[in-house]
Amino acid sequence: MKRETFKIVTYGCEMNDYDSEVITSILKSDGYEEVFDIEDAKIVVVNGCSVRDHAEKRALGFIQSLKGKKDGKRFIIAGCLAKSLENENIFLDESFIVSTEYKKLPELLKQNNFKKFEISSEGNYSDILRNTDFTLNIPIMKGCNNFCSYCTVPYLRGEEVSFSVDDIIENIKRNINEKTGEIMLLGQNVNSYSYDSYDFVRVLERVAKEFKELRVRFLTSHPKDFSPDIVKLMAEYENLCPHLHLPVQTGSDKLLKLLHRDYTVKDYLEKVEISRKIVEDISITTDIMVGLPYEGEEDFKETLKLVMDIQFDDAFMYKFSKRKNTLAYYMDGCDKKVSSSRLKKLIDLQRSVKEKKLKELVGREVEVIVEKVSKKSKNEFYGRDRHNRSVVVNGENITIKDKVIVRIVKIKGITPYGIKKR
Ligand code: SF4
Repeated sequence: MKRETFKIVTYGCEMNDYDSEVITSILKSDGYEEVFDIEDAKIVVVNGCSVRDHAEKRALGFIQSLKGKKDGKRFIIAGCLAKSLENENIFLDESFIVSTEYKKLPELLKQNNFKKFEISSEGNYSDILRNTDFTLNIPIMKGCNNFCSYCTVPYLRGEEVSFSVDDIIENIKRNINEKTGEIMLLGQNVNSYSYDSYDFVRVLERVAKEFKELRVRFLTSHPKDFSPDIVKLMAEYENLCPHLHLPVQTGSDKLLKLLHRDYTVKDYLEKVEISRKIVEDISITTDIMVGLPYEGEEDFKETLKLVMDIQFDDAFMYKFSKRKNTLAYYMDGCDKKVSSSRLKKLIDLQRSVKEKKLKELVGREVEVIVEKVSKKSKNEFYGRDRHNRSVVVNGENITIKDKVIVRIVKIKGITPYGIKKR
């Protein structure tokens, strides 16, 4: 009998990637066949993000475009998009399952009557064997208790729950394969991890110690809970990458208060300064929002000043959007034109900071793990260095997962190019 085909389309963060790996594994174990081309799929799984309005609209627009083709496809909506659509009908009909209970999917798919909502509090699915790529995503916790006034995550992902260290280690061991090059520990706020006597510093140390042959990274840190002890570990363990993603959101104390972030610009600057004293060249990246409610010109200037003061290695920058259930839903953001113009100014400034920092790399040697062969040439490869910078490597006798020392020879756009030295 011909097997029913499926295709997963993922929008969102590393947690969505993780969920997609879990769903793929569950469906394949039940005999479904994964296909590359969406046209060949009978079932389309849209694993979407609802954290930002833009991401949600993109995912919903994609589903509507497929529905318009009327070719009898069935749909599964997963991830926090599923949670966000709970009890909403919008355009959903009997061709949809909206679910975060992934283990139930095979059973639900066998029933003829779709239009099902199966929203659970989400397990961590650590017992599922996934076919993972270079980066092994490992959730160490789920949910969030912070209720930042603009953020819908606590409503979508629920209360914060940390998973046991044994469970985390087992999840890693079960899913390491020949492609694994790095472990990415995931949580909405990894710094508030707490299970028995373990805090995040101890979990990180245990993972770094136990999996010495793999690079270890983590996402995301909250500035209020972030401890420089984490950076001390980076100095101690070679495989613990010196990269810190520390979302600041805005450079205005007035707005930080409004956002319920529980730190000031001064606190943030101090934590970055201490971190740089411990690991001088640590890479610091961030998230910044513009067009926030009550954001005046002075507040925006403070954000630009912070970008200059910190000299971020990279930043994810975006416009504020209202999200259901949140406190900020009841506040108006800035005028659209003002928000767009501020975002452009911010992006331009951060790009110039990034370019300047990248130029300082020219002539220096960095350690790169090779992840892909370039389509342009058999001697050109793509990888990342320990600071999470993408690097194009030229050289011979290189294979995927090789750890190579590369001399950076030029920066093209915002990409460093280097030559393999050894
Ligand atoms: S810390 Fe704030 S921004 Fe981050 S997930 Fe929790 S509520 Fe959202």
